[in-house]
Amino acid sequence: MRLKSRIRSWFSGPAGAAPLCPAGHLPRRGGDQVGAGAQPHNTAAAHASLSAAGSPRHTPISPLVGEMPGRAEGGKPRALLILAAIASLLALNLPAYAATKADVEAQFRQWLANDLWPEARQAGISASAFKAAFADVKLNWDLPDLAPPGFPKAKERKQSQAEFSSPGSYFSEKRLQGLAATGRSLASAHASTLKRVERSYGVPGPIILAIWGRESGFGRAKIPHPIVDVLATKAFMSTRPELFRRELIAALTILESGDVKEADMRGSWAGAMGQPQFLPSSFLKYAVDFDGDGRRDIWNSVPDSLASIANYLAEKGWQSGRDWGFEVSIPGDVSCAQEGPDLARPIADWAGMGITRVSGKAFPSAERSASGMMLVPAGTHGPGFVVTPNFYVIKEYNNSDLYALFIGNLADRIAAGGGAFRGAWGDVGKMLRSDVLGMQKALVATGYDVGKVDGLPGYKTRRSLGDWQAKNGLRPTCFPDPSLKAKLR
Ligand code: CA
Repeated sequence: MRLKSRIRSWFSGPAGAAPLCPAGHLPRRGGDQVGAGAQPHNTAAAHASLSAAGSPRHTPISPLVGEMPGRAEGGKPRALLILAAIASLLALNLPAYAATKADVEAQFRQWLANDLWPEARQAGISASAFKAAFADVKLNWDLPDLAPPGFPKAKERKQSQAEFSSPGSYFSEKRLQGLAATGRSLASAHASTLKRVERSYGVPGPIILAIWGRESGFGRAKIPHPIVDVLATKAFMSTRPELFRRELIAALTILESGDVKEADMRGSWAGAMGQPQFLPSSFLKYAVDFDGDGRRDIWNSVPDSLASIANYLAEKGWQSGRDWGFEVSIPGDVSCAQEGPDLARPIADWAGMGITRVSGKAFPSAERSASGMMLVPAGTHGPGFVVTPNFYVIKEYNNSDLYALFIGNLADRIAAGGGAFRGAWGDVGKMLRSDVLGMQKALVATGYDVGKVDGLPGYKTRRSLGDWQAKNGLRPTCFPDPSLKAKLR
């Protein structure tokens, strides 16, 4: 029995023992512990994760664990059993799936011919363009979020991970200063092009430069991947195949149009292309030829890149003559629970409440009669803003408040030598997504609107939290924090 229990202990192992397989995801037997032993292992969850793995190639592993003690009852010499156990352990260090990359590559070729080609042909792609596009295509196994057929599924992200670090780190002063300095020198180097772009699209040069700088280091960043490889890999075997399939067809349409040679058509791991980082579908809608050579070239042409960014913003509704927004100071008696794009007021009204610009300057007179929205991304724990509808146009480029603030701040630095936001970002990175989710559910149960119940503190969650705080005799902070977690559940 001693040997048997030793074999079993190799499989189940005491807490802290070397895991059986590198990923450490082998379900272990009852009484086992996860990680450092903080939580009891949930057997049901282990079964669920096994069956979720789904593939028949996945199943041999765990029955082996389960069967080993049983086999020891079979009367074979124990030494042999130990050797078999060791051999099994060694085998477990090999990939735990039978599909090989070569299998998947073969399936990929079949998919191109039998599945993708009919759709591409319907979209107007010629056989010669299709053949040329995929002549040298390679699956890129290093991309994130892949789901190759016959391979174990990637684990889903746990909601117990901290999802939002303090925004302070997003606004690296060193990075912003570097981008602003380069942006100012490029503003004069490309002054005449920028002037023409501004006249054509009504978007200020500094905003265009800021996006160009942020997206691709003003076109100087090395753009890593052949785009067809990325899109084909993700259309064939990623967690979001439909999205990338559409983008792949769009990329083929671009190649068919002759705007770019395939060798030049490079992009990011996520499929964003060239200096403005457009997805192929955005390229088809918004890219423009501004240098007049007849091709829309966002990889090599600065005028095409700048004008394409401006055209994108113009098409998304940029209001010519308006700013993006202003950092403000909000008096203590003005609730933060008034933020959001759906609560616009004339900027003069915000000023009438005592909200002032931190720069000490008055709001420009042309802005006072136009609409503005309060924005407090970290509630009262960070800087406050009155933004214009153009702020939300920048968010069309990348749907993040912090991104749009980064662009606005960088544009101000390029235009007028502005500096960092005056308000400090507090340490608001402590909450787990699951904590925020719990608070959202509690708010919804009390009749509040939090937008999507997703564990992320968007503006609807923030202002509902502020309203709830006010109603419960607390000073509104409009941001989840650990002290509120206990009160709001
Ligand atoms: Ca061109």
